[in-house]
Amino acid sequence: MAEIKIPFNKPGMTGREQTYMADALQRGHLSGDGYYTKLCNRRLETELGVSKVMLTTSCTHALEMSALLLDIQPGDEVIVPSFTFVSSINAFVLRGAKPIFADIRPDTLNLDENQLESLITEKTRAIVPVHYAGVGCDMDTIGQIAARHNLAVVEDDAQGLFARYKGKPLGSFGQMATVSFHETKNFICGEGGALLINDPAFFERAEIIREKGTNRGRFFRGQVDKYTWVDVGSSYLPAEVLAAFLYAQLEAREEITAKRKRVFEFYQENLAGWAAANGVRLPVVPEDCEQPYHMFYLLFPSLEERQSFIGHMRSKGIQTSFHYLPLHLSDMGRRWGYREGDCPVTEKLSDCLVRLPFFNELTQDQLEEVAETVQAFSVGLAPRV
Ligand SMILES: *Cc1c(COP(=O)(O)O)cnc(C)c1O
Repeated sequence: MAEIKIPFNKPGMTGREQTYMADALQRGHLSGDGYYTKLCNRRLETELGVSKVMLTTSCTHALEMSALLLDIQPGDEVIVPSFTFVSSINAFVLRGAKPIFADIRPDTLNLDENQLESLITEKTRAIVPVHYAGVGCDMDTIGQIAARHNLAVVEDDAQGLFARYKGKPLGSFGQMATVSFHETKNFICGEGGALLINDPAFFERAEIIREKGTNRGRFFRGQVDKYTWVDVGSSYLPAEVLAAFLYAQLEAREEITAKRKRVFEFYQENLAGWAAANGVRLPVVPEDCEQPYHMFYLLFPSLEERQSFIGHMRSKGIQTSFHYLPLHLSDMGRRWGYREGDCPVTEKLSDCLVRLPFFNELTQDQLEEVAETVQAFSVGLAPRV
C-alpha cells in the first residue's frame, strides 16, 4: 500500500491555542465554567443570535442533554435521517426512544422534509434535522410541520457552525441545537461541543442537568445559599484548557472560514468539467443556504466506481473517505425491524459518496495534486476491485 502523502484530515491550529491554554493554567481554575468557557459561550451567543450557549464535552453529550431536557421516555418516537452519525439518534435511544428513520433529499443529502409528515404518529416527540456538510435543511418546512404537530426540533448542527439558512444562523431554528468541536470539524478543541438553547423554558434545567443534577449554578450566582441534588443530570462541562483552545479557534473564525472556502472553491472549479464528463455529482448548495465549507464530496454512479476511485487515490498516496452507512441497516437499526428499501435514497447515495482531503492547511501544491489525481480517473474505465 502506498504511503499516505495527503491525509484526509489534519486538525488546524491558529497559533494562539497554546498561549490561551497557558493562560488558563495560570488562572488556576482548571475545571469547567471558568474564564474561557464564559468567553466562548458569550461569543457564540452573540455571533449566532442564540439566547443561551453552554459548552459541553462533545456534541454527543449536548444531544444527550437535549433528550433529558425534552424528557424523552421509553416508547417515544424521534425522527432522524438515516444518513447521519450515530449520536444524532443514540442520545434519544439512551432514554428509551424508538428511532424513526427518514430518508434524505438527493440534492443536499438532508432529511427529506416532504416525507416528514408521513412519519409522524401520536408517539412522535421530536425531529432531529442534521445539516449535512453544514448545508441547512429546509427549516421553514420542518419548523411548520413541527409546530403543527407540537413537536420539538433539535438541530444537529455538528458540521454547520456559522452557516446560515435564509440569512439566519443554523442552530437558531430549533428549540435547541448542538454543535461539535471534535478535531474533524471546522472549529476544534480535540473533543468538545455545545448546546444551543433558543427556548428560554429550558435554560434553568439545562444548567442543572449539565451540573450533575445540582443547582450549583444558582449557588455560584448567590441565588441559593447551598447547593443540592435537584434533578437528574450528568457531567457535561469541558475543562478550562479545552475552552481556552477553543477560544483561539473561535477568534480565528474569518481566517479559518477563508482557508476552507479556498479549498472548496478550488475543488469545485477544477473538478466541474471532469465530473460532468464522468457522470459524477458535486455538492449542491441551495441558494438560500450559506455553507461553512465543511467538506467536499463526490457522488459516483455506483458503489463499484466509488470503491475503484478510493483505491486509485490510495495508490497515489491520497487518503479519501466514504461517509455514513445507513443507520436503519446497522445492527442496531435492524433491531427495530428496518430493512433494505426503507430509505432508498440513503442506501444508494451512501454507497456512492466519497470525501476528498479537506483541511485548513492544504497547500496549493497539494490541492493541485489531488485534482490531477482525480482527473486521471475515468468512470467506466477504472480497473475493477
Ligand atoms: C461529529 C458529529 C457528531 C458528534 O460530535 P462529537 O462532538 O464527536 O460528539 C454528531 N452529529 C454529527 C452530524 C456529526 O458530524
